[in-house]
Amino acid sequence: MIGIYGGTFNPVHFGHLRTALEVSEMFGLQQLRMIPCRRPPHRGQPEVAADMRLAMLELACADTPGFYADRRELDREGPSYMVDTLASLRMEHPQSGLLLFVGLDAFAGLTAWHRWQSLFDYAHVVVMTRPQFVAAELPVFLRQRLCTDSGQLRQQPAGLLFFQTVTALDISATRIRALIGAGRSPKFLLPDAVIGYIRHHQLYLSSEQDIECKQN
Ligand code: ATP
Repeated sequence: MIGIYGGTFNPVHFGHLRTALEVSEMFGLQQLRMIPCRRPPHRGQPEVAADMRLAMLELACADTPGFYADRRELDREGPSYMVDTLASLRMEHPQSGLLLFVGLDAFAGLTAWHRWQSLFDYAHVVVMTRPQFVAAELPVFLRQRLCTDSGQLRQQPAGLLFFQTVTALDISATRIRALIGAGRSPKFLLPDAVIGYIRHHQLYLSSEQDIECKQN
């Protein structure tokens, strides 16, 4: 089975990477493809260019076998719709099980995604939850696809919804950007190689720091 983990990754951090590793091991994935969004349909354009967000993901994935930073959304014009991404992966892997991993916050907005019901034509959707999470009332379409036995995900290549408990680390890219903007260290929240890239390219600095860096 192939895992798909999408996001803005502005920047990628250990909250993403730890959950990605856990689900890779739990589901015995052959590959876990982390796919940065070039133009997010449901939020403002990230201030850091997609090719830089991809470069940080490449650094973060480099040491982990089976992890790939996937550039396909960078090569597509227009908004980066997940349904198009899944369709392209399905063309490349007609027989494989595809698992789309989403965090609870992303899942809460799923029914607003472009052609959201078609996601299930191409992949299973696995929601990464906290322990003791209880799924609130799901729309009928989702309830009909809900499965509680992960073994079922192997029996068909797409079409099911599954909730998987993972270790939730309280880390967000927003907080990391704020720390750097305030001149504080983001160490231990994301890989050192990614911190090195951020420093080298002077990303996420407040405008004051930016001026100082340019002067020095
Ligand atoms: P931002 O703070 O900029 O909104 P983020 O840290 O939430 O960013 P995204 O790139 O928006 O990261 O998230 C991509 C995916 O990773 C989403 O499915 C989201 O639910 C999940 N995710 C984000 N942070 C964590 C975390 N700490 N633990 C587990 N999953 C996470």
